[in-house]
Formats: sequence, C-alpha cells, structure tokens
Amino acid sequence: MDLSNNVVVDINKGDQEFLQFKKLLKYSDIVTHAYSIGIDKNYRTFKANKKPLLKEDYIKNMNNYKSLCEENNLNYKNIIKANQAHTDNIVNVTEIPDNKTIDTGEASDGLITNKKNIILATTNADCILLLFFDPKKLVIANVHSGWKGTLQEISVKAVDKMKKEFDCNPKDIIVCICPSIRKCHFEVDEDVYTMFYNKFQKLGNIDEFIEEKQGKWYIDTVLINKIILKQAGILEENIEDCDICSVCNKEKIHSYRAEGKEYGLATAMISLR
Ligand SMILES: [Zn+2]
Repeated sequence: MDLSNNVVVDINKGDQEFLQFKKLLKYSDIVTHAYSIGIDKNYRTFKANKKPLLKEDYIKNMNNYKSLCEENNLNYKNIIKANQAHTDNIVNVTEIPDNKTIDTGEASDGLITNKKNIILATTNADCILLLFFDPKKLVIANVHSGWKGTLQEISVKAVDKMKKEFDCNPKDIIVCICPSIRKCHFEVDEDVYTMFYNKFQKLGNIDEFIEEKQGKWYIDTVLINKIILKQAGILEENIEDCDICSVCNKEKIHSYRAEGKEYGLATAMISLR
C-alpha cells in the first residue's frame, strides 16, 4: 500500500520507507526531512532513549536512525531528539551535545534551530508531530504535540519562538502535520473532553472538532492545531496536512492505540543543509 497523496510522497529507499512533504521537497537544496513508515513494525522503530534500552535494542534502534539518515544524505551523528515529556518546552539547539544519548538532557517537546546540519528529531505513535520551516529566515522546528501538548498549544509556542528568537514572519512559515491519530479514532472519556471543552470553547464552533457519540467523545486535535496556528498568523495554504490516521493505517504506521504496550515509534526528522 502506497500512502502517497496530494500532500506527501511515499518513498522506498534501501531498507527504509518514509514520507516526504511535497511542499518541503521544493526546497530540497536547503532543507531535508522524512517521516519514517514501514511494513515490518519490529524493524523500523525509533525508540526514545530516556528509558535505558537493552544493548541489542539500542543498536537496532541506532542502526535504524543511521540508515534513515543515510538514505537522506544526512549524518546520524548530528541527530538531536526531543525527550518528549508532554511539556510545552521548546529548546533552541545551537550545537550537538557531546554525550552518549541522542535525547536532549532537559525536558523538551519541541526543538528549533537556524544552524545547518543539525537534525531535529521527534518520535510518535499516535501523537501529532509538526515540522516547521521558514524558507526566508532559514529556521526549522520539530514539535511533538500529543493531546497534552495540544492543550498547552505547543505548536503556537513554536511559532512565537520563531518570531521572537529568529525574527520570523508567520506568513512565511510552512507547517507540515505528520501522520497521527485522527478524530476517527481519538475517542476520549469525559475527563479529557472537559479539558478540551474548557480550553477551546473560546474558538467557537466546538461541534467542528468535538463530536459526542454514545457517551464517548471524539476530538479532532489536528483541526484544533490548524485553527490555533491560523490565529497565530500561519497562512492556510502553508499548513500541509498529510491527512493520514495512524490507527486507520496501523499496518504501516506505529500506533499506541493499535499496538498496545509493545508499541514502536516512528520518527520525524528535519535538517537545514
Ligand atoms: Zn482513524
């Protein structure tokens, strides 16, 4: 099954398979990116290192990063990965730290840089990952926004940081939304529904992104991100949503809801050249 659509292309190269956003490919001389997918879920996983992995898992893991980087002409030694703690903390990466793990030392759910050859990486299994690129100021960001991150509006905080620290104009910023759980599968109970209702009723049209069915609620967290990003000045035509649900496509994309405790992780990477 090929997941290509009008927004992304599904690429097989070497032993890796990944999606790339057509809009970012127009800038392939200055920015490189990929979102890993694959049929063999045990093979292509990109686990975080914050829980120590068994040595053999660690090696397999790093080999996956390495081969995905090689297929994209990147040096895997330049990867820095958000350690993903469901915070709204976004770290400005100015150099690759000289330590054994690829994760940031501090809690981080977003990474940002204007430096070339630093590979910003995040991982997901249902959560939303967003790649940001400003082709004028040459700034990139990679943000992990699970439902807790969405409640904290971390995607908007990334735009704010791009404005404040790099003088970006939101009108220039391209935002790409990777595969994630979508409204079709993001079923929640009343406690989570109430948090979303209280936070986002200010947006109006709440029926557009929260649907009640038989005592359960289905929340469109991707749509919420799109709405708040537009309010932050991102142009509609610069929001590239792959429109792919991780649960609906569990044969090819890691999903916590579909895989359970033994879930694997996909990675999204972006690097300036
Ligand atoms: Zn779905």
